[in-house]
Amino acid sequence: MTPQPTQQIPGVYHRKIGDIVVTAISDGYLDGDLDVMRNVDLEKAHQVLREAFRPARRTSVNVFLIHSRGRMAIVDTGSGNYLLPTAGFVQRNLAAAGIDPNSIDTVLLTHMHPDHSAGLTDMSNGQRLFPNAELVMHENEPAHWFDDGGMTKADERSRKLYFLAGREQVTPYRDRTRLFRQGEVFPGVTAVPSLGHTPGHTAYLVASGNDQLMIWGDTVHVPEVQTAFPEAGMAFDTDLAAAAASRKRMFDHVCADRILIAGMHLHFPAFSRLARRGDAYALFSEAWVHNLDAV
Ligand SMILES: [Zn+2]
Repeated sequence: MTPQPTQQIPGVYHRKIGDIVVTAISDGYLDGDLDVMRNVDLEKAHQVLREAFRPARRTSVNVFLIHSRGRMAIVDTGSGNYLLPTAGFVQRNLAAAGIDPNSIDTVLLTHMHPDHSAGLTDMSNGQRLFPNAELVMHENEPAHWFDDGGMTKADERSRKLYFLAGREQVTPYRDRTRLFRQGEVFPGVTAVPSLGHTPGHTAYLVASGNDQLMIWGDTVHVPEVQTAFPEAGMAFDTDLAAAAASRKRMFDHVCADRILIAGMHLHFPAFSRLARRGDAYALFSEAWVHNLDAV
């Protein structure tokens, strides 16, 4: 008898942006409830999820490779072994995509949260998982997460999961870290600070020829709910009001210019477009293509 399959082929999806190829790599997903949401009526949030045929919060975790002008960057690194056993598959899926982590010369971080920066370092031996990469992020990120005064004021969970986890993951790269405020940070990639979720939270705009892709980081964590209620935030937003303002600004920017988007918590493979619907927004996944030149 032929056995039935029990596992997916690892999650890897390529998208061409002009001369650049962006590859979505799945780190897996994180299940949870909606109690971590803020500034939203939870009854209404549950209703939105039910109507989208998603009875609970299942958060995709994605990272993106950028192949540009003979170089390769990775945007974020997934969650390593810090969160749930359903995530932490970046290295496995890089291998499945035929990518040698040694050939990645730049890690662009959207921010220092464990589902983004906890795949930088193998803590069992302290070795960098991207041994030849320069670590690049907004200057506000280490300034915030390495601030002992801020850490003292944080609760136990965020002290461990955000401050300490961020520090131990980033520290092995301290002699190869480049901090920015804005501007071009990699060939064809411009940093678009979108502050609030964390003090240095940054989106990255990939542009080549007439094509653009906005990798918008953690602009949303629960896509269905936050496009319906853009003011809805998360308990772990450093600044809820600033995060909501940045989210609305980003929503309006990508709608007005009809920019293709990708996000760390959009459902894999994440390439989507956003449209305005009155005071709310609607998200549309892009159709899948096999041949990269067919887009
Ligand atoms: Zn995140």
